[in-house]
Amino acid sequence: MSKFELTRFPLIKNLLKNRYPQLVIFVLMLAGFLFAIVAGLVGTPVGSHNFSIVFVWIAWWAILILVAVPFFGRGWCGVCPIPVVGDWLQRGAVLEPAKKTPKWLNLRVPAKFRNMWMQNISFTLVALFSSVILTTPVVTSVVLAAMLFLAIGLSMVFERRAFCRYLCPVGGFIGLYAQTAPLELRVKNKNVCAQCVGKPCYNGSELGSGCPWDVFPGGLTKNTYCGLCMECIRTCPHDNIALNLRPFSADLAKPSAKLDETFKAFIMLGAALVYAYVLMGSNGAVKLAAYNVFSPAWFGYAAGFLAVIFGLLPGLFWLSVKFGDIKTSPTGKQFATAATALIPLGLMFWVAFSLSFVLTNATYIFAAISDPMGLGWNLFGTAATAWQPMLSSLVTPAQTLVLIGGLAWSARTAQKSAPQAGISPAPVMVYCLLTTFAMLWLLL
Ligand code: SF4
Ligand code: SF4
Ligand code: SF4
Repeated sequence: MSKFELTRFPLIKNLLKNRYPQLVIFVLMLAGFLFAIVAGLVGTPVGSHNFSIVFVWIAWWAILILVAVPFFGRGWCGVCPIPVVGDWLQRGAVLEPAKKTPKWLNLRVPAKFRNMWMQNISFTLVALFSSVILTTPVVTSVVLAAMLFLAIGLSMVFERRAFCRYLCPVGGFIGLYAQTAPLELRVKNKNVCAQCVGKPCYNGSELGSGCPWDVFPGGLTKNTYCGLCMECIRTCPHDNIALNLRPFSADLAKPSAKLDETFKAFIMLGAALVYAYVLMGSNGAVKLAAYNVFSPAWFGYAAGFLAVIFGLLPGLFWLSVKFGDIKTSPTGKQFATAATALIPLGLMFWVAFSLSFVLTNATYIFAAISDPMGLGWNLFGTAATAWQPMLSSLVTPAQTLVLIGGLAWSARTAQKSAPQAGISPAPVMVYCLLTTFAMLWLLL
């Protein structure tokens, strides 16, 4: 299947070029985001009846991981409210591009931070405290507010969207898994870019800002760092930007050999396994340890978590790569290239985990939409909806199918990426098989 250009339809192109539809979505999202912060601070402390927990960690999470990332890649980033206020302040305008003279410091992010390591650290920190963040409204509010203020602060100090590109704990994994999505933004003809004077898609013009994600659209080969903000569609004077449908996981055909992205894959794979064990499993002692942050038991849990994501999983994978080429020791490049196979596997682990988590808790949405702060309101007459798991008889078969599908997808990816790493794909496939068995055992 080849690419299919969606922007060939004038309706789609005009909708994307026009700033007003996106602005309306931004304003609605921002209002919901701010309401979630307020609800967490002043609403009921019972997480299952507070808008901040129910709409962020159940409704938004379900849409993000089950629909947005698998099918639209970074589509969520195109409408996310977190960087919007920072963008407005940075530009000194809501819709117009920035003036030639910067309003704020406009510094370049130091080269040593221009990678995914900070996002790896921020996600790991959130993950270590997730048991509390996911269940305590006031903590969720603090995390959401911190993200908003960090995005604003960094946009005052650094150029473009430094928070999104280098720090956001959510943006890192969306970028990793966006490579598998059947949607991409690319230039139509690289020769046109080569001749283009001034490169307004990157440098900005009177038509709009230069790429907020610090990406040169003419050089895009994968989805990881394109935030689908659509600014380059507006600024390109040669109508050379296209939004395309394409086969799933097209970006994985040319594996990245960057260790920061590789460790993002291990962190996500390991976090899915640990969450399946802690949140869905029946081991009360581990659950208790995860919830009692800063207790001696929590430090044990945190050490175990870190050992799995930074030691056990990468260590076993290193051995797999070594078995794939027993004559030499794997280099970092081989290791990172072969780890491409873990990207579809990790995504499917998260889909499988989220299916049970979301369907078990989805009925809380009906109650919370009528009484978002647990104050006894009944706005839509659904406040008394009793909790019950949804589609419970379908969860196990669906999870099994998803995990088997993920395994097949990873095996196919390994067949393509392992030869590029100069190793046999068989040990990588065995690694994927064993981790899938572990996830099946933990979930089912
Ligand atoms: S990177 Fe994070 S803050 Fe930025 S748009 Fe994406 S999800 Fe939102
Ligand atoms: S403005 Fe358009 S033609 Fe020029 S470099 Fe950017 S994408 Fe290419
Ligand atoms: S300007 Fe273009 S390349 Fe840059 S993030 Fe936005 S959509 Fe992607």
